[in-house]
Amino acid sequence: VSTAPKYVLEEQMEELEELAKSADLIVIDKIIQRVKQINPKYLLGEGKLRELIIKAMDMGATLLVFDQNLTPSQIRAITDMTELKVIDRSQLILDIFAKRAHTRDGKVQVELAQLRYMLPRLTGKGTAMSRLAGGIGGRGPGETKLEIDRRRIKERIHHLENELKKLTLARLQRKKRRKEFSIPIVSIIGYTNAGKSTLLNALTKSSVFVEDKMFATLDTSSRRLKFPEEKELIITDTVGFIRDLPEDLVAAFKATLEELEDASLLIHLVDISNPQFENHIEAVNKILKELELETKPVILVFNKIDKLSSFDTKQICSRYNAIGISALDKQTLIPLIEEIKNKLWQEATCTAPL
Ligand code: GDP
Repeated sequence: VSTAPKYVLEEQMEELEELAKSADLIVIDKIIQRVKQINPKYLLGEGKLRELIIKAMDMGATLLVFDQNLTPSQIRAITDMTELKVIDRSQLILDIFAKRAHTRDGKVQVELAQLRYMLPRLTGKGTAMSRLAGGIGGRGPGETKLEIDRRRIKERIHHLENELKKLTLARLQRKKRRKEFSIPIVSIIGYTNAGKSTLLNALTKSSVFVEDKMFATLDTSSRRLKFPEEKELIITDTVGFIRDLPEDLVAAFKATLEELEDASLLIHLVDISNPQFENHIEAVNKILKELELETKPVILVFNKIDKLSSFDTKQICSRYNAIGISALDKQTLIPLIEEIKNKLWQEATCTAPL
């Protein structure tokens, strides 16, 4: 629902759909409503909203996702009208972060952001409150769901804030341990939908690596891979970048990326078929700088070359000095794997004094 021109709304809707997919939602319909003026209570007119709700229920939807952030009173007014669960873009993004946060710090930061977001949106006791409580479903803050109330949320926030302080120490210890452990970590970074998890899976299944049963999986987003010559690496997937990240969520986002500190090498993955790819590259580089990670070795990788002609692929890759791949086609990964090897092991030898 917006007053913006139609083409802008269509672009935003496409992005919202990508985000919804990243959160494992099944999108059954998208509705763009251009309005002359935003209705402060319901965003759109009450009658229109009622129509939309009936349509959604007829189609079997269980969740309404609004692209704009809803104020506490808007979310209450809308949830009062329907049994459907109602969330906005920020909640959707927080849900994605919750799914992809791996370190304890990251998880704590995301839960804090979820609770702080939820707190002003709770009033008294009622169904609206319980429907707000669990995030999209299952991955909401903590184990508490229906019973959650303001007092408990405040207690939980306090507890998490304390935990965060203690975690700084644990992080330093972890870093030291990682150093002793000495297996290089390669992290895949990039925008949502760039193909990061597809690439991680493709690399894992690649015949270049021998299976290392003992350490097959660390967690869903990390794999330990071994070359026949006994060289090993850990490869991890990270939370994706998101355009127009709401200010409140920046800290949580950065916390989920904190594990990049341990990486020896970053694979910056770009969906080359996305017309916005140059902006995406810039946004990623900007965040790397903010996290003081810009000095880490990076391989720029352009994914989804299957969507481009080979002529265009060659031109674009050479212009950016990037490696072109299609994460869906394992054959195309060979040059990338070679480059990973080079960056992790060869370059050190080359730069050693003669
Ligand atoms: P992530 O959000 O970066 O982890 O992206 P995903 O790995 O979930 O991929 C997003 C979408 O892009 C999925 O639908 C993939 O099947 C698709 N995808 C990934 N790699 C390629 C590719 O090389 N070519 C094409 N055409 N689609 C791809």
